Amino acid sequence: MKHSKVKTLLNSTKSNYEVTVKGWVRTFRNNQFIALNDGSTIHNLQCVVDFENTPEEILKRITTSAAVSITGNLVESKGAGQKYEIQVTKLEILGDSDAELYPIQLKNKPSLEFLREKAHLRVRTNAFSAIMRVRSVLSFAVHSYFQEKGFFYVNTPIITGSDAEGAGEMFKVTALPFDGTPRTEDGKVNYAADFFGKETNLTVSGQLEAETFAMALGQVYTFGPTFRAENSNTSRHLAEFWMIEPEVAFNDLNDNMDLAEDFIKYVIKFTVEKCADDLKFLEGRLLDEEKQKPQAERSEMTLLEKLNFVLQNDFKRVSYTEAIDILKDSTPNKKKKFQYPIEAWGADLQSEHERFLVEKHFKCPVILYDYPAKIKAFYMRLNTDTEPGKETVRAMDILFPGIGEIVGGSQREERFDVLVEKMKALGIDEQELWWYLDTRRFGSAVHSGFGLGFERLVLFVTGMTNIRDVIPFPRTPMNAEF
Ligand code: ATP
Ligand code: MN
Repeated sequence: MKHSKVKTLLNSTKSNYEVTVKGWVRTFRNNQFIALNDGSTIHNLQCVVDFENTPEEILKRITTSAAVSITGNLVESKGAGQKYEIQVTKLEILGDSDAELYPIQLKNKPSLEFLREKAHLRVRTNAFSAIMRVRSVLSFAVHSYFQEKGFFYVNTPIITGSDAEGAGEMFKVTALPFDGTPRTEDGKVNYAADFFGKETNLTVSGQLEAETFAMALGQVYTFGPTFRAENSNTSRHLAEFWMIEPEVAFNDLNDNMDLAEDFIKYVIKFTVEKCADDLKFLEGRLLDEEKQKPQAERSEMTLLEKLNFVLQNDFKRVSYTEAIDILKDSTPNKKKKFQYPIEAWGADLQSEHERFLVEKHFKCPVILYDYPAKIKAFYMRLNTDTEPGKETVRAMDILFPGIGEIVGGSQREERFDVLVEKMKALGIDEQELWWYLDTRRFGSAVHSGFGLGFERLVLFVTGMTNIRDVIPFPRTPMNAEF
């Protein structure tokens, strides 16, 4: 007989029929009650064992995380907490799990840090199975949004030959030996002898390639892994993370902000609707976690309140210049509480400043735009109406409570001469980006796009606080286990 999913059975509209389920034992109480989970839902299915007629050696093998196949009658449950349960008629142990050796002992309340080291098993816990289901639904929502809007999904290369993106430190890709590396006459590594005949890296962003596609397909998006060898070891940075990068021809910066806000709201709404049970569980988890904190540091809103708040309110749009004025006059700045005090226009905003603006000042998601040209990338469109020394570019960052930057984007510099000038000033090799410049040579047009770090979105939606807990197997400095 084909087995049923726990989720299907719990939503059953009838009872008193024979079913088979397969899954993993969460707990086994009183030699009688198995809480069975098969991953289809956060909820367990209670399976009641007829222990008097079950051999002792089978009962002993019903241990946490053992894989079992259970057949029995699905009946309405007399116990509190579940609508249905199975009265077991046949129980087969598919895979034993030695209770002494199983690394995750739930009664010891394992910490998130401990579970990170057991990433291959942590997904068998309620919290991580919920997070990973939410992550899956969120990624479906990403495709759903763009596909509904007529965007095309483009797979930009993971191994890239352009090193001018400037988004972060890169990982080299090479097939050259470490011993006896071929050298040029002046002693440098001879990449001409390498696999691709040139220096290559893992991509930090698919933007430049996506731009070329936007200039033909109109509206495109990437959704794939990106890599940054930044040794930052924060709770918001991974060395390998997934990025969503839409790029749209004929969109200016305002259109870009509208797109980003609409997109974020859509994927959150989609997930709130599809993952009600998991989010309710994660909301409870967050409440428990917050109880450990002093009252003043606790969040005023529950997880679902926070998500609904984002859905129901406009993101506050504020220029960089306005933000600097706010920060300069802020209490923490005057009281020298910022690690990096804000003294003058032109300062790069640190996460402490972003969090002040979002969490203390505006108390809602904030879109900062028109940043100083000096602190932003070469491809961002230069504003023409600025004072000398105070040049700004049409950049925008979206800042979220508890997360900081979730989106970074811009209107791209479409004017060939201005772009080349910029590249020269920054010492970026035109030869290297000949193909990128071609988009400005042939049929150039206004266009815009942004990058959204998928894990930062998952952090926000799940209410988790460390980015290592929202990706299956995190890659961070000194850590590439699994
Ligand atoms: P940050 O200042 O937080 O390091 P960034 O300015 O380097 O971000 P961008 O280069 O604009 O970020 O990348 C676009 C988006 O990718 C960011 O808004 C963020 O959501 C995400 N992101 C950037 N770096 C990382 C990382 N190391 N791990 C996870 N997500 C990241
Ligand atoms: Mn960064």
